[in-house]
Amino acid sequence: MTAAVVRRSALAKTKWHLNSYRSDAKPFRLAVKDNIATEEFPTQCASGVLGQHASPFEATIVRQLRARGASVVGKTNMDEFGMGSHSVHSIHGPVRNPLAPAGEEVTAGGSSGGSAVAVAINDADIALGTDTGGSVRLPAAYTGIVGYKPSYGMLSRFGVVPYANSLDTVGLLARDVESIRQLVFDTALYEEHDSSDPTSLSVETRQRCSKAVPPTLPKLSQLTIGIPVEYNIDELDPAIREAWSATASALEAQGARIVPVSLPSTKEALCAYYILAPAEASSNLAKYDGVRYGIRGPEADAAGETLYSEARGAGFGAEVKRRILLGTYSLSSEAMDNYFIQAQKIRRLIQQDFDRVFRLDNPLYEPRQFDLSEMSADTALEDKQGPVQVDFLLSPTAPTYPPKLSDIMKRSSIDAYMNDVLTVPASLAGLPAVSVPVKIEQSHQFPAGLQLIAQYWDDRRLLALADKVMKLMAV
Ligand code: GLN
Repeated sequence: MTAAVVRRSALAKTKWHLNSYRSDAKPFRLAVKDNIATEEFPTQCASGVLGQHASPFEATIVRQLRARGASVVGKTNMDEFGMGSHSVHSIHGPVRNPLAPAGEEVTAGGSSGGSAVAVAINDADIALGTDTGGSVRLPAAYTGIVGYKPSYGMLSRFGVVPYANSLDTVGLLARDVESIRQLVFDTALYEEHDSSDPTSLSVETRQRCSKAVPPTLPKLSQLTIGIPVEYNIDELDPAIREAWSATASALEAQGARIVPVSLPSTKEALCAYYILAPAEASSNLAKYDGVRYGIRGPEADAAGETLYSEARGAGFGAEVKRRILLGTYSLSSEAMDNYFIQAQKIRRLIQQDFDRVFRLDNPLYEPRQFDLSEMSADTALEDKQGPVQVDFLLSPTAPTYPPKLSDIMKRSSIDAYMNDVLTVPASLAGLPAVSVPVKIEQSHQFPAGLQLIAQYWDDRRLLALADKVMKLMAV
């Protein structure tokens, strides 16, 4: 079995500085995805191109967690540069799901598959992953643990190797919700601005956002939870659909109001994501040229046609090359208007869909009055004011249970992209989302991952609800 944790420190060398160790710190074991820089281990993004790379500095998030008691137990296997949904595109080989029956090789999900497995097998208490379009939530769903993607801009990305900057978030994986909630909120991690990360929210904006969202979750009887009808896709495994509906019923039995809601632009989300993410990736990966970063081939400089092609051709895996080609094409002058610009427009529509259904306004924008004429004709109206508004959304995290590795190898890359259909909308809108494991009686051998999504910066209440859902539907 390819180990989830690819490197362990023989000496467990700790480099945190004593004066930054907080008095409220509680010791815990932290696994770190291989695209997040740590001083004591190499940072290689599971890529041949970074085969020799060790970062001279540490990511802010690792430093922040060390101050809160983390000792880094190792770096974890992943899809190369975060591109993938099954942790199979790795120089180290695929990650395997520990929940699979003996003799079966099943995906652990990706791209943060190694982080999920490290937590699932209790090699770590918390793991850091990155979630650009679902890479924390999907492996959490497949391995029966909790995966949390915070609001975009909350946790620092400094020291995280970028894949698609406008979507990348650092996420946390754990066996329960509470340990994530404590770390992010009780230790005030969510308040910390990082001046080294231009996408880290300023202190003033954090304070404004925090004022705009209620601090605590009310009783379930005071909550309205939306079931996005567009997420009920034909490809959904019937047992996952059953887990979804059983969870909604359990919440309803506790007094919550469950209502169907429509997010019409969801249907376009996947296409928009697979234009925007590769476009950003192709630009980010330009620096792996064998000069600034990456391994230089044995040939003399400029032997053959160019200096770069040998290093890039040998160093990158097939999926990364595919994304570079997709991205450079959609950014070309010929294709820009038809692809990249259209995808950005769809992204805006998706954000508006979410803002329309959530009761809370998005604290990043001026409150917006939605015109009924902008909504699709079949949108059900609550009253004369418009359609029903909700506090949270509930959906499955992935359309199916984890497939076998042998089946994944036979499928096309488009099939893997399809797997992200339920996670990318929240990523495109920058919203917080969490996947929790749910098991219903006589269900499948794997738990189903259910996803909760909240309005921007409503993370604290989102985690409180996720904790309730997980306990209600205890695996
Ligand atoms: N599977 C998606 C992709 O390959 C998401 C990856 C991620 O969130 N890092 O782009």
